[in-house]
Formats: sequence, C-alpha cells, structure tokens
Amino acid sequence: MIEEIEGIIISERAYSETSKIISILTKKYGIVSCLAKGARTLKNELRNVTTKMTYGLFHMHYKEGKLSTLVSVDIIESFRNIKKDIVKISYASFLLELAEQVMKQNQNEEIYVLLISSLKKIEIGFDPFVITNILELKYLEYLGVMPIINACSICGKKYSIATLSADKGGYVCNHCLTNEKIVSNKTIKLVRIFYHVNIDKITNLDIKEDIKKEVNQFLESYYDNYTGLYLKSTTFLKNLNKTELK
Ligand SMILES: [Zn+2]
Repeated sequence: MIEEIEGIIISERAYSETSKIISILTKKYGIVSCLAKGARTLKNELRNVTTKMTYGLFHMHYKEGKLSTLVSVDIIESFRNIKKDIVKISYASFLLELAEQVMKQNQNEEIYVLLISSLKKIEIGFDPFVITNILELKYLEYLGVMPIINACSICGKKYSIATLSADKGGYVCNHCLTNEKIVSNKTIKLVRIFYHVNIDKITNLDIKEDIKKEVNQFLESYYDNYTGLYLKSTTFLKNLNKTELK
C-alpha cells in the first residue's frame, strides 16, 4: 500500500550506482529513511525531488523502523529564495540538523511544524538569525531543558529580575545576583516573547543588533550547558555570525 506522508528531506546519500537513500523529517512518523530507486540517473523523475530541503508530500511504501521505498513526490514548497542565498542556506541547514536532533530525542509533531514555519519565514525574507534563535528557544522545551523565564531561577521571585544567565538556568533577580553579566531589560523580555510567539503570525522582527547578540549568546551557552547536542553546521554558522555582526 502506498502512503502519502508530509515531510522535508534533511539529508541524502548515494546508494548503489544509481539510487539514493534520503532521510525525511515527517509530521506523522518522525524521521523516515527512504530508498529512492534510480534517483541518481539523469532522466529519473525522482532525481530533482530527492534533494535536501525538498518539502512535500512523499508517496512511499512505508515500513516502520525499516527502509521505506519512495514512489513519487508532490512538492509543496521549493524554498527557492533560501536556496539562492548562501547565508539563508546555512541557517536553513542548521535548522534541519537541529530539528533532526530534537526529533531523535522526542518524537513530537510540533517539532516538525515549528521547523516548517521557521523555514517559511526565512523564505519570505525574515531575519534568519532571529528566526533561528526563536526556534532554538522553543525547541528547549522538547529537549526537556526549558530555562526558567517567568521568575527568578534561584528563588522563584517574579519581580526585580536583573539579568538572564545560562549558567543559572534562566532569570536571576536582584537579590540572587552574584557576578552574572547584566543583560539589557529588552533582552530579558525578548526571550519570553520568543518563547510565546506564534511563528506563523510574526509580521515584524525589528530588533537592535546588541539585543539580538545578547539573546544569541544566552542561547549558545545554554545549548552548550544543557542539551549535549553537537551540530556539525554550528561552527560554520558561528563564523558567519562573527563576520556578519562586526
Ligand atoms: Zn532570586
């Protein structure tokens, strides 16, 4: 029986002389490995629809926990603008890798939904740096290590929040403050907004560079401290940021 499964290709690799094995992040089944027979031969109809970041409806003989077989693909969105721009491609690749890692730890449909919403926003021109940070923050919940950003992470007090600390695990109030670096009040508020915002409904992401940097620094240290994730595309992205944000 052929099943129609919505998903996005997160990686592809050669298999035999003529075929490919693709890895698809799907809404319904998490990560699915799929054999695309003949997809490396020139005239094969699967050739162009089995590349990384192809987002569509995958018709396949699905076998749970085994290699499925791809029959055809209906493209939903080809992310043409992302693919034209090296910076956007880099962020999008990072998001695909991140979503894959998060899905491996917690198979939840929402991880897929959030990824697609983020890619759509990057595709239509929203700042990939900020979109990436929003998704990173939201994914912490699915990784089971959400920072405390509704009260002081040490004493639980809801007022006089002085800063945000990755080491302390979230907000720190005036009273509990020791030698943590003080971030802007806007940064403190922004992480909460990022957590609650509906990505599909974002219409404006006008954020000052220094605030963006502070949020990003928090997330970077937080990921290092609490998630144990190692993402291949991070190094490239970090170097890109250094050049961009100078
Ligand atoms: Zn406190």
